[in-house]
Amino acid sequence: MYGYKTYHENLMRTLINSVHSSLASHAYIFEGENGLNILESAKLFAMALTCQNPASAPCCSCRSCVESRADTNPDIILVEKPSDRKTIGVAPIRALTDDAAVKPFSSPRKVYIIREGNLLTEAAQNALLKTLEEPPEYAVFIIITTNSSVLLPTVRSRASLIHFPPVPDSVTSEYINEKYPDAPNKDFLVKYCAGIPGLADIAAENERFYPIRDDALKNLPLLLTKNRLCAFKIRDYLDAEKDSADMILDFWISYLRDILVIQTGAPKAVINTDALGELRGLAQKLDPKITAGALGKLFSAKEMLRRFVSIKSAALYLALGINGSN
Ligand SMILES: [Zn+2]
Repeated sequence: MYGYKTYHENLMRTLINSVHSSLASHAYIFEGENGLNILESAKLFAMALTCQNPASAPCCSCRSCVESRADTNPDIILVEKPSDRKTIGVAPIRALTDDAAVKPFSSPRKVYIIREGNLLTEAAQNALLKTLEEPPEYAVFIIITTNSSVLLPTVRSRASLIHFPPVPDSVTSEYINEKYPDAPNKDFLVKYCAGIPGLADIAAENERFYPIRDDALKNLPLLLTKNRLCAFKIRDYLDAEKDSADMILDFWISYLRDILVIQTGAPKAVINTDALGELRGLAQKLDPKITAGALGKLFSAKEMLRRFVSIKSAALYLALGINGSN
């Protein structure tokens, strides 16, 4: 769309129409999973916002539009996590608010895109707050985040929340066929991505993807066994694989979903079709309530990792929670 790889054309059309009718806000939260090209969508919206012909934005021919497409528009500023930090602290936000006091270079607006807004520290969000409360007329802020609830309520209340949902499997399938025509097990891959095409990049570019997936299945019974020793084994397993812990949790989530699907009598919806035998065996042994409870714990453990709780603590919370409750 206008040269940008957005997966959300209808949503973008609505946002662009708001520019035509002068109804654009000063602050947005773009919420959605990584792998949905939300940065591309934000750049497209920024192109429309900075176009010198607002009634037909993006006109694609004015100076701002040409520069936007070349990623050289001085009035579109991308704020990212410093490469040597785990979070976005006060310093880059102070630089942003100082910059926002200066009028645009040549566009009608100045757009700040904050990438990975879920990594903004509380102090950084507070530093941003005053500018969000009284933004210069020309400034627009777009905060991209996987989860808007981790932002301060004061920040959330000053921004329009735009949710970017997962896309249909047909879109993911097209993406995989185009980018990875020789990928093995494409049916599994499409289902594994669950509407987030970018997840296919992880599978294609990480040679340990399939071995880790196999190991996760082997270790799944440990997670579901009523034995505290198993909890410590889970902790040690995740600690030893700490760089892949998030991926392992995703595999467990997909296996448990499959078990639940089998238990509820809808085996056609199974994602891990190549592991159907093992999954059927587990489905027979487990109480569906335990499966559902374990899934909930896995989602919480994933959230803990996102908030930088240590692997060991998150793993123990997970394993003891599941083992202790069954
Ligand atoms: Zn233009």
